[in-house]
Amino acid sequence: MQYENYIGGRWTGRNFTTNVNPSDTNDEIGMYASADADDTNSAIESAVAAQSIWRAYPPSERISVLRNIGNALLARKDELGAALSREEGKPVREGIAEAGRAGNTFHYYASAIEHAQGETYSSALPKTLIQTRRNPVGTVGIITPWNFPLAIPAWKIAPALAYGNTVVFKPAELVPSSAWALTKIISEAGLPDGVFNMVMGSGSVVGKAITTSSRLNAVTFTGSSFVGAEIAADCISHGAKRIQAEMGGKNSLVVLDDADLTIAVEAIIDGAFKSTGQRCTATSRVISTPQMYPRLVEQLSARIPTLKVGDALDPSTDIGPLASQQQLNQVRKYVELGVSEGAELIAGGHEIRSASPGFYFEPTLFAGGHSQMRINQEEIFGPVVCLIEAPDVDSAIALANDTQYGLAAGIITDSQRSIERFLDSADAGMLHVNRSTANTELHVPFGGNKSSSYGPREQGTAARDFFTSTSTIYSTTGTD
Ligand code: NAD
Repeated sequence: MQYENYIGGRWTGRNFTTNVNPSDTNDEIGMYASADADDTNSAIESAVAAQSIWRAYPPSERISVLRNIGNALLARKDELGAALSREEGKPVREGIAEAGRAGNTFHYYASAIEHAQGETYSSALPKTLIQTRRNPVGTVGIITPWNFPLAIPAWKIAPALAYGNTVVFKPAELVPSSAWALTKIISEAGLPDGVFNMVMGSGSVVGKAITTSSRLNAVTFTGSSFVGAEIAADCISHGAKRIQAEMGGKNSLVVLDDADLTIAVEAIIDGAFKSTGQRCTATSRVISTPQMYPRLVEQLSARIPTLKVGDALDPSTDIGPLASQQQLNQVRKYVELGVSEGAELIAGGHEIRSASPGFYFEPTLFAGGHSQMRINQEEIFGPVVCLIEAPDVDSAIALANDTQYGLAAGIITDSQRSIERFLDSADAGMLHVNRSTANTELHVPFGGNKSSSYGPREQGTAARDFFTSTSTIYSTTGTD
């Protein structure tokens, strides 16, 4: 079956390409349109034309549209989650949880705009009142990665629409089916034509047409740091658009000698291997003090081989395939690199051949490495975690900061003093105490430091700062 783009309230498409299941590449999911620059510009013009209509909608009507979308996502979360897992490769329970989260995100922003959005201030002048008002930014380009094909589009689209913006959404090439299903739901929710548009296709064509358009007012992007830097430069040099970029991570978990070993092992398994390690917040460096280090090596080397790698749609699967051949090649390359750099391969390290052709790789543990090795500096984005030894708590925290990234970091310890030291000095946007680095909630700010993020935080109340602009209004009530 062929699936089209959604532009100006109409389904339209050409240049169809086939999408396959990474758990079984013989399973063809569907054929999805690939837009060109003209299609993208039509979507942009539709969104620009609809801006004045949507911004004039009363909040109560915007709320009703957002609730319709949220309700549809929640009612169909099992089916949407399974389709997501078939396309992206994460285990089906994670796919269903993600579809549910996308639904809850639309409800969160429906509630968020029930409250007045401005503030009132006193003035130094008599009979004068100062107020602020939040206006929509205007027309927003949304560019997303493949690893959370429903949750990330939802956490950008929901606040964009809630605060009165119109949208051009470009999903990642690997996950058009999830984007199309989300778009179908949005198209049936009661929006005026042109308010929401979706264009599938490549980053170099569709993405580039968005970032270099001077007709858009803002672009929100999630993806790699390399692409994020190019996008930020394009946005600034073409119309000085507002830009928000959430990018890569190389997240450290510090495990101290006084840590609860069971909590530490489970936090590492969850952080490193859930979603096959393809999370920006995945734990990829574990920095441990000397007494805990050998205990972690022993426990993890016993635990990791018990994890079941298999088809994403099999409910007994712990770890699904990587999302694509490119991802598999990248992980294989980094494992070979780790061995050649002198790190010790403790568990895993190999591709898995299964009955159905898919991109399967063993969960992998390296130890004995040092922080400056490339496997400990570069984002692998796969089921690979590296143990690094540090002599004491201060050096462990210093090593946790020793990368160009600063998205998430965590500590496992029983010591309140060590927790305080960590919270004071860890250079990351999201800090976790006695838990994995990887799980976040939708109602609080999300984002990082250094090369991990550029621009305002996402999610929760923080999203309002990106999707609105503030007018400050000075009113004098009389002159006598
Ligand atoms: P990517 O950077 O390759 O692509 C992301 C999106 O940008 C895709 O839609 C792609 O088509 C588009 N794109 C690519 N080149 C472009 C260009 N020149 N102009 C405009 N658009 C372009 O990333 P990916 O492989 O899809 O996702 C994995 C990356 O995303 C990892 O680095 C991961 O850490 C990061 N990520 C970050 C977060 C976060 O919130 N910080 C969340 C999820 C994923």
